[in-house]
Amino acid sequence: PARTRVAPSPTGDPHVGTAFMALFDVAWARKTGGSFVLRIEDTDQARLVAGSEQQIYDSLEWLGLQPDEGPHVGGEHGPYRQSERLDTYRPFVDRLIADGHAYYCWCSPGRLAELRKEQEAAKLSVTGYDRLCLGKSREERSELPGFSETPVVRMLIPDDVELEFDDIVRGRVKAPRPDDQVILKADGFPTYHLAVVVDDHLMGINTVVRGEEWISSTPKHVLLYRWLGWDLPSFAHMPLLRNTDKSKISKRKNPAARLMWFKEQGYLPEAVRNFLQLLGYAGDDSGEVKSFDDFVAEFAWEKVNTVGPIFDLKKLDWLNGHYIRELSTEELADRIATFAEESGQWSDPSERELEVLRLAVPIIQERLVLLKDALPQLDYLFAADDEVTLDGDAVAGLTDDAPAVLDAAMEVAGSVDFTAEAIQAGLRERIVEAMGIKPKFAFAPLRVAISGRKVSPPLFESMEILGRESSLARLQALRA
Ligand code: ATP
Ligand code: GLU
Repeated sequence: PARTRVAPSPTGDPHVGTAFMALFDVAWARKTGGSFVLRIEDTDQARLVAGSEQQIYDSLEWLGLQPDEGPHVGGEHGPYRQSERLDTYRPFVDRLIADGHAYYCWCSPGRLAELRKEQEAAKLSVTGYDRLCLGKSREERSELPGFSETPVVRMLIPDDVELEFDDIVRGRVKAPRPDDQVILKADGFPTYHLAVVVDDHLMGINTVVRGEEWISSTPKHVLLYRWLGWDLPSFAHMPLLRNTDKSKISKRKNPAARLMWFKEQGYLPEAVRNFLQLLGYAGDDSGEVKSFDDFVAEFAWEKVNTVGPIFDLKKLDWLNGHYIRELSTEELADRIATFAEESGQWSDPSERELEVLRLAVPIIQERLVLLKDALPQLDYLFAADDEVTLDGDAVAGLTDDAPAVLDAAMEVAGSVDFTAEAIQAGLRERIVEAMGIKPKFAFAPLRVAISGRKVSPPLFESMEILGRESSLARLQALRA
């Protein structure tokens, strides 16, 4: 059974990349009867953002990608927050130093910056740390310039370091030669490279799924596994999601890089999940709409695409519309109401308003793309005291027939059975046929009276939902 994990840093709004990785983690764990772990990588204390960790939990849950183990759900391999594991790392650092695989480095940040500048100016082909501290005691080193009291610990990358490794998505991969990577910082915190290896090992992770930008780090991680005598996990380096111009999507430039953005827009989680499935498999032609269960059943690493998939929101809109149409009207009404309350579109809707929404869902379900558009499309149905906000252009565009049409419509509305069908038949007979007014002109004043707009969801259904009294009040208000 696979044990997979995502290991986000709580440094801001969760990245859509985290969900992308989690999707494959969950699929592989489910397919093999294994587990999916959430680990919080919070060793870079300066970059922590309050609330970010909670957002990670919430957004994974929203997408239905809940971890089996994690800081908020517990598990046998905790703690799952790296800041609570600091004592765990130190003994491994000591072992690496004792075995000659790592060494103290007292070079000050100033000296390192200077070194970098010199190397850049000299356009050296091999750059990186020059090993000034290697083989020196504290005393010996302290006599040289650029000494800092608090040392870091660096890996001693051997000359014959293996640069190639097997990737379950990419096959054999070659990475550039690494520098003598810092593994323990001056403040006593491990760097990502040490912590990720120690934790993945101790948490029993046997499949590491992460973004392709970590390929260049993998040879360092492989060394650490070997030095510590541990079995290597499998690695799957996923492609980075790209904008239509091929640049990588990033939170600074693209709102859709923020996972919460999808929820805020009123996308359904099942549509977002389906969208991410498609991105991973770009080029697979077994159908675009696929439930997560089917995705899991058919899951195979060979299908994963290694070329950065283009993040095409038009496709997501299409999928969202599809999933919206698949919902029952009750379910869609509930989703709209929950969305509207959570986003502040609605505060504390009354029973009557909820009832109106349930009745109105069928008239918008066919065309609705985003949950956030539902209430604005239906706002006229909720006008207090039937005081509809009239669109000036719509009113100005009415023909001279309008008063007579409204009068006739009130007669009909006062007498027919109040169903959409009967209303439509009555209005047709009385206005289109008896008065000889073309449907286009016959119904325009009624639409404006009922909805305030030139374009609205279906008119007769809207009247049925409002009921006789409200409909008459609105017709009368425009007539007056
Ligand atoms: P910003 O979005 O502000 O540029 P970033 O893109 O650098 O930030 P990070 O905070 O560095 O994002 O990364 C957060 C996580 O998201 C990392 O695990 C990273 O692998 C993943 N990630 C970042 N960009 C992408 C992308 N384009 N596609 C998939 N995953 C990504
Ligand atoms: N904390 C790392 C990140 O930001 C984890 C990378 C990995 O999965 O190894 O994504």
